[in-house]
Amino acid sequence: MTPKEQMNDLYALIEHHANLYYNEDNPEISDAEYDDLVKQLKELEKEHPEFVKPDFLTHRVGGQALFSKVKHAVPMLSLDNVFDEDELSGFFSRLLSTSSGYTCELKIDGLAVSLIYEDGIFIRGATRGNGHIGEDVTANLLQIESLPKRLKNAPKGTVEVRGEVLMKKDRFERINALKEERGESIFANPRNAAAGTLRQKEQDVVKERGLDIFLYYLVDAPKYGVKSQFEALQWLEAHGLPTQKAVSFCPSLSEVNEFIRDWHERRNTLDYVTDGVVIKLDNLTQWDSIGSTSHAPRWAVAYKYPPEEKETRLLDIQISIGRTGILTPVAVFEPVQLAGTQVERASLHNADEIIRKDIRIGDMIRVRKAAEIIPEVVSSNKLRRTGTEQVFTMPERCPVCGAEVIRVEAAHRCVNRASCPAQLKESLKYFASRDGMDIKGLGDSLAEKLIKTNKIKTITDIYRLKASDLLQLEKVKEKTANNIMAGIEASKKRPVVNVITALGIPDVGKSMAQLFVNHFGSLDAMMTATEAEVASIEGVGDVIAHSVCEFFRENRGLITQLKELGLNTEQTSHEVIKVSDVLSGKTFVFTGTLMTMTRDEASHKAQRLGAKVSGSISAKTDYLVAGDKAGSKLQKAEKLGIKILTEQEFLDLVV
Ligand code: NAD
Repeated sequence: MTPKEQMNDLYALIEHHANLYYNEDNPEISDAEYDDLVKQLKELEKEHPEFVKPDFLTHRVGGQALFSKVKHAVPMLSLDNVFDEDELSGFFSRLLSTSSGYTCELKIDGLAVSLIYEDGIFIRGATRGNGHIGEDVTANLLQIESLPKRLKNAPKGTVEVRGEVLMKKDRFERINALKEERGESIFANPRNAAAGTLRQKEQDVVKERGLDIFLYYLVDAPKYGVKSQFEALQWLEAHGLPTQKAVSFCPSLSEVNEFIRDWHERRNTLDYVTDGVVIKLDNLTQWDSIGSTSHAPRWAVAYKYPPEEKETRLLDIQISIGRTGILTPVAVFEPVQLAGTQVERASLHNADEIIRKDIRIGDMIRVRKAAEIIPEVVSSNKLRRTGTEQVFTMPERCPVCGAEVIRVEAAHRCVNRASCPAQLKESLKYFASRDGMDIKGLGDSLAEKLIKTNKIKTITDIYRLKASDLLQLEKVKEKTANNIMAGIEASKKRPVVNVITALGIPDVGKSMAQLFVNHFGSLDAMMTATEAEVASIEGVGDVIAHSVCEFFRENRGLITQLKELGLNTEQTSHEVIKVSDVLSGKTFVFTGTLMTMTRDEASHKAQRLGAKVSGSISAKTDYLVAGDKAGSKLQKAEKLGIKILTEQEFLDLVV
């Protein structure tokens, strides 16, 4: 291949992965693999400047705008990376003559945002986007508890601060576990989870997922008498903005290296993910004179920690079966310590992945934790093969029920949806989970015993259980049996939104189920709706509509039985009253640009709940919902003392 062809291939490949990463929040390769492609390209570019594509995205900052656009007054740049101490001393040698010390901060693996405060009040937040134009994600940022809506000791006028939105490790694991249970694809790492969440159109999902924020940059700091980056971090903290604590002022390179080494292992103990150290020239007056490239500032650099990898022996590949019958091959290996914990299993995802990586039972394999959390098998060491390794093939029959296994695209699936005990166990756990029927005590071990002893053959058998059935199970005493029976009985009173969630319709989690309840009011109405009607509900779309209608076609019997057994299949009057009490008969006016819906859509939402909508403000107006750039109506409403709602406050009322 000629260098030109090589470069063109790399341009195409990098563009493909950058799009998956920045715009779809769904990367296919690890950050280290991506960084390696960029490095290869940069080397070729140096050797062959004649073939360089000047406007290619590695020279800019990635990301496309989906929400309304915001122009950054000061560009939001990326950072140049270094990967070892040699490269780092190269960076230092360029700065030495100017340096008066550095601030080292751990590099948080999230996504950058800019926040604007006006007279101390948070008024707008935006993503980095392409560095010049980002997306206005104010409504979503408002859902972040740790983001102060008002600054302490606020200076007058506009203050812009920047930082990183992130998802903490425990939240990330919980969300992925939930997604897995629902048969949805999981987030590759907390950074993608944070980015995917911040670009959600539904604010309640953002709130539910629980993001966090750390600030690290005060724009125009000298305006506030701040002279160094270290002081800027203190300024942020003093004004109530959260900053992360792994920060140090380092007078010279040797202290910087010490900081890097010190945090290499220690960062595993933090409850958020970091992927390196950002080293910034401390003296702010030097930032302007040193300047930036179009991609990154010259006064800062990111040192990236190498992903920690260990070699170990692959002992077996076992099959785990999910709720929807998908067979997932799982690598079982000799335990190793990785990023602070002992690891001995890692998902191999599917058969293609095993072939692509050429992994055989008995191989020495390299394992690591992706983003320090999810264990993964990186590769097998072909040089250490002895010839006794066994090639793995997916089973043709389900290892649990013996039914046929079919292949659908990359996945293998057990066809026995009706009675495969492994699928039944997962469905049962999901049915009883907190977002579903919330039956306390019905977890993994009880589900397994009930299925093994044939006391439960279908989901509906839960409601036919008697305390005497439970008492026959190993280690179940009277008190436990009574508690479980009470839990099962109590679950019959759960709102219909829990029933719809518990059904485990593919792609329908609790927020989606709530949309259906708001629209249909009952399970019957939802079940008889046409695919077109389901698809027309805001936020649903064709794919989910198809999955919903197909589910009901195949499971009519199940729904009838659940109704006969006394489950709640209608929105209760209690739920309806709660919402319409606030809105019924009230007069609303909408003004300005709303962010998550058009004014028409907002009017329909209010009208559906019994409100009246008017085009003009009068003494009879109860609420004015003011979006961006609200003008004279807002002033008039203020004069008349009418209650003014933000878009978010309105959404809180109607959802
Ligand atoms: P980056 O993540 O390497 O570094 C820049 C960012 O670091 C800043 O924008 C800021 O958001 C963040 N940051 C965190 N803590 C900070 C601190 N204390 N001070 C200042 N900034 C801080 O750069 P990027 O442009 O956001 O992304 C490029 C990286 O994304 C690549 O190096 C690669 O690792 C990854 N990527 C991966 C894929 C893939 O397919 N896996 C694709 C594209 C990009």
